Parts: sequence; structure tokens; C-alpha cells
Amino acid sequence: MASNFLYSTRDHKFILKEWLEVGKILSLDAYKDYYSVDDIDNILEQAFKVAKEVAAPTRDDNEAIQARFENGKVTVPPSFKELYWFLNENGWGASNEDDEAEGHLPQVLFRACGEYLAGANAAFMPYILASAGAAGLVASFGDERVKGLFKEKMFSGEYAGTMCLTEPNAGSDVGDLLTKAYPTDEKGVYRIKGTKCFITGGEQDITENIVHLVLARVEGAKPGTKGISLFAVPKMRVDETGNITGSNDVQCVGIEHKMGIKGSATCVMSFGENNECQGYILGNPPDEEGRGEGMAQMFQMMNGARAETGHAALAETAVAYYNAVAYTVERVQGRPITNPKSERVSIIKHEDVRRMLLDMKAHIEAMRALIFKTYFDFDILHSSPDEEDIKKAKAALEVNTPLIKAYCSDKAWELTAEAMQCFGGNGYSEEYPIAELCRDVKIYSIWEGTNFIQSLDLVGRKWMMGKGKVFAAWLAEIEGFASDNAAHAVLEKEMAILKRAVDAYREIQNTIAGYAMGGNIPMMPLYATRILHATSELICGKLLVEQAVIAQKKIDELGSDHYDYAFYNGKVNAARYYVHNIVPNIFRTLEVIKDGDTSVLDIDEGAFQY
Ligand SMILES: Cc1cc2nc3c(=O)[nH]c(=O)nc-3n(C[C@H](O)[C@H](O)[C@H](O)COP(=O)(O)OP(=O)(O)OC[C@H]3O[C@@H](n4cnc5c(N)ncnc54)[C@H](O)[C@@H]3O)c2cc1C
Repeated sequence: MASNFLYSTRDHKFILKEWLEVGKILSLDAYKDYYSVDDIDNILEQAFKVAKEVAAPTRDDNEAIQARFENGKVTVPPSFKELYWFLNENGWGASNEDDEAEGHLPQVLFRACGEYLAGANAAFMPYILASAGAAGLVASFGDERVKGLFKEKMFSGEYAGTMCLTEPNAGSDVGDLLTKAYPTDEKGVYRIKGTKCFITGGEQDITENIVHLVLARVEGAKPGTKGISLFAVPKMRVDETGNITGSNDVQCVGIEHKMGIKGSATCVMSFGENNECQGYILGNPPDEEGRGEGMAQMFQMMNGARAETGHAALAETAVAYYNAVAYTVERVQGRPITNPKSERVSIIKHEDVRRMLLDMKAHIEAMRALIFKTYFDFDILHSSPDEEDIKKAKAALEVNTPLIKAYCSDKAWELTAEAMQCFGGNGYSEEYPIAELCRDVKIYSIWEGTNFIQSLDLVGRKWMMGKGKVFAAWLAEIEGFASDNAAHAVLEKEMAILKRAVDAYREIQNTIAGYAMGGNIPMMPLYATRILHATSELICGKLLVEQAVIAQKKIDELGSDHYDYAFYNGKVNAARYYVHNIVPNIFRTLEVIKDGDTSVLDIDEGAFQY
């Protein structure tokens, strides 16, 4: 209850107009006839208005009405249906993900708009985002027939979409899935049979059709992830003229009763209970060795969803933060430690409350910097003609995606708790918005691959990409920045800490490599989560200081009387806070990993019972 959509567009304007070279994206062929940098403010303000006036009022229905499963049917709050159609019909929905659509926004700009919508009602957004991601898979990998059947209606929002990986016995270990696909006489069409669970938007009463993107194993294909294929499985069968011809034997058999995001229908789905479920394979059938293309294809949607997950975590954390700021200005309690006999003051004056607020602000800006740098790279990768730029962007995207997913979601859980702390007892009460935000953000560390899976991706795969050269270049860029700016008049100390952090990070890598070479393999998964956090703190520290350099220049030009001084002052202090208080976690991580404590491995399993 008590949603309160408080947000600011200022940091996005800084990111898009003063920090990242968004002009470079907007001058690419895909965008140059439609947008210029001068349009940015207007687009952001429009999106903000939609978020505040159209999306935010639906938020309370997450808890008041919720998604429901009754008499075999799933219903969502009626306000969600109106919001779904409003967003799709006004260009804020799946249509923007259609690369071929005239006038679509680049990701770096569209996602800023999406952040306000996620802040306004994060539980609603997967109805749009999953549909857009599924449409992208159909567009990328479907043959002409599949595209003809589904693509346009998915991008317009007329048909929704889902991603169906998880099964009761195959969660993190998706390679163990049991859903089967049997070839039929019709080329490309398979009979699907199996059960999927935890499917977001698996059923709802918003759209007449839902196209499920289902991972399944063609009969006889290889075990494990290698043998998996991907299928477009509509809830309702459709003919070539676009008419719905009947049911496709896809049933929702129940929904989860969750801790948060209660308006989002999380469904158990049965495919082919009556052996009548048809699925269209995307790409090629398994090759002669039984290798399918499904897992690699699904990664397109998963990588997008991982970034969206981190971004939604950030958006909800920011709402909690802005509410905490408003509350701490209003709430009067206690007197300054330096003047105990004075009048009582707003709690924002107290040192520890300011610490909590700056901790939230610095992390929020750090996460936002990482996310938007990554969406910028995404646009370069997809639209730039420059081979060298594309190569660099692809590498950064690979490394940064697991960081966005896991770091932002882990932090969201901690930071919304900090926001609650700012509210004192009122934070724990349902009359204020923080309790619901805390409940909502927990999901982000779990879905789209738990955060451990992201850490494994980082240390097990991204560190090794291109024989380690990709990651080495990623590190060298941070080091280069700190060295080039070592003598900065105001940020010299921060540059020095960053430089030392890069050295420590290399030592972390060497220490883990040493354990591996000595045959001590479990040390890698044992420390992977800490390493992901250290990696995120390193890149976030660099990006914040990069922003602080720009902000400091502005302060020098404008002086402290300028109306925008507070914003730039905030940027410099957020960077200082982060580098002095958060980046040193990297030194501690190195110390811990070098120490190499193995109590986690040594403890007797029976000891956990006590
Ligand atoms: C609200 C919600 C919505 C969801 N939406 C979707 C959806 O739309 N589509 C979909 O396909 N799925 C969806 N999921 C499923 C989600 O992706 C899985 O819950 C998640 O991947 C984890 O799988 P699991 O629940 O089986 O946990 P498990 O795999 O059983 O993991 C439990 C714990 O063990 C750890 N663990 C597992 N294996 C290892 C290992 N090898 N080494 C170390 N640690 C390990 C995990 O990190 C985790 O901490 C959703 C889940 C929820 C709760």
C-alpha cells in the first residue's frame, strides 16, 4: 500500500547529454532522421509524465488486487490491462524493440524512459519486457513462416510472449530439463510435451494470445544444454492469415503466491497434456550429433533480461531512496551532536542518516552509470558501422551484463533495507512505501539465473574470453583512466585508489589462477560471488570518477551560486564516497582470497544441523 512515485530525471540528462556521447548514437543511420541530442530532455520528461500519471497509479493494485488463479483462469488487476494497451499503443511497449520499426529509440534513451516506468510499477513491466524479448527471438531466429505468424503481433503487443526455461527439477541446471519435442510430418513443427514452472506472464487476461518461447529437447538429441532446441509455442493456434483457429493444448495449472511483485502472474504451465501442443522450432533442428541451437538462441533474450533485471532493481531502489530523502527532510527528531541545546532538527541533519542517504545515492548513481554505459555499448554493437567500436562494445557488454544483473540486485536488497532504516518504525509499516519495495526487489537476485550463476559466468567464462585478452583490455581501460588523470587537481586521491584497486584486482585473478593450477578448483566457486562484487565496485568506481571529473569542471565554471551547483556537488561527493568507502572492499577481498580460508569446504555437512 501507499505507493509514492518520487523520481528525478536529472541524472539521466547528465548521463545522456554530458557524459556519454549519445550524439554519436543519434547520428547513426538508424536514428539520424528522427532524433537529435536536443530532443533528449523532451523525451525523458514525456516518459516521466507517463510513469507518474499513468503507470504509478496502478502500483497499489499489485497488493490490493494481485494476479489471481480462479476456476482455471488467471486474471490480473484491470488497471494493468489499461496500462498495457496504453504503453503499447503509444510507443512505450514492445514495438520499440523492433529494429526495423521506423523511428524507434536507441536503447540508451529508451531504457532511461523504461527506468521511470519500472520505478512506477516494476511488477507490471515484465508483461511488456518478456513480450518484447520473446518477439526479438522470433525476429532473430524464426523462419519466414514463424515470423509471418507471430512477429508483427508480438511487437505490437497484440500477442504477449514469455520465456519458458525452468522446470520443477531443472532450475539453475537448465540442461536437465525434461520437456520433449517430437517431430511431426510438417517441417519445422514439433509436438511439445512437458511442464514449466515459475513462468512470468505464462497466463493472463490481457491479450488473446501468448507466444511461449520454450526450451525443449528433440527426441534423441544430446543430453545437457547442448541438446536443447527453442520453440515458439502459441497458447492459441493461428493460421497463415492471422486468424486464431483454436486452443494449442497449453494450460496454466496454477500460479505462485509470492512475497512481492504480486500483480505479476508467475505460472506453472503444462504443454501438451492431451498430446495436441504444436511448437515451431527456431533455427535448425539438432544436427547429426544431436546438438541443438536453443541455448545459444535463448541467451539473446536472457542477456537482455539480465540487464533489465538489474535495471528494475535500480529503479525500485531509487524510488525507495527518493522517498527516504523526502521523509528525512520532514521528520524532526533529536538535536545536533555539536549543539545539544538547540531546537530539534530534521533527521537529514544527523551524520548517520546522511551516511545512509549518501550510501544509497552513490550506489544508485554507480549502478546507473554501469547500466547506461552498457546500453550505450549495446547501441554501438547493433547500429555502428565501425568494426573496432563494435568489437570493443561487444567485449564490454559481455563482461558488464552479469555485473549489472547480480550487483544491482544484491545491492537493491541491501539499499532498500537502508531506506527502511531511514524511516525508523514507519519504514516497517505498510502505510509507507518501503516495505513493499523491499519485498519486490528480492526477486531480482533470483530470477534470470541466480546471482551465483552470474558470478560463475564472470569468473568461469568472461575472465577467459579470447584467452583472457578481453578481460585484460577491460581492466587496462580502468587503469589507463586512473593513470591519465593521476594529477587531477581535485580527484587525485580517488585516482590513486582506483589505480591501487586495479593492481589488487589483478592479484585476485592471479591468486585464483594459482589455486586452480594447484588443483584447488573449489576456491573459484567459493570466492566467485565476492569477486563479482569486487569487479562491479571497480568498474563502478571508475565510471563515477569519470562523471565526477565532468561535474568538477562544471563546478569550476559555474560556481556555487548556480542553480545546478547542488547536482554537480552531489556527483563529486557521490564519487568520493564510493571510492573511499566502497572500492576498498576490493583490498579486503584480495586479503580474504589470499588467506584462502577453507572452513566452508571443511565443515562437516552434519554440522549444519546445529
Ligand atoms: C517470481 C519468479 C519469476 C520467474 N520467472 C521465470 C520465467 O519467466 N521463466 C523461467 O524460465 N523461469 C522463471 N523463474 C525461475 C527462476 O529463473 C529460477 O527460480 C532460478 O533460475 C533458480 O532456479 P531454482 O529456483 O530451481 O533454484 P535452484 O537451481 O534449486 O537453486 C537454489 C540455490 O542453489 C544454488 N545453486 C544451484 N546450483 C548450483 C551450483 N551448481 N553451484 C552452486 N550453487 C548452486 C543457486 O544459486 C540457489 O542459491 C522465475 C522465478 C520466480 C521466483
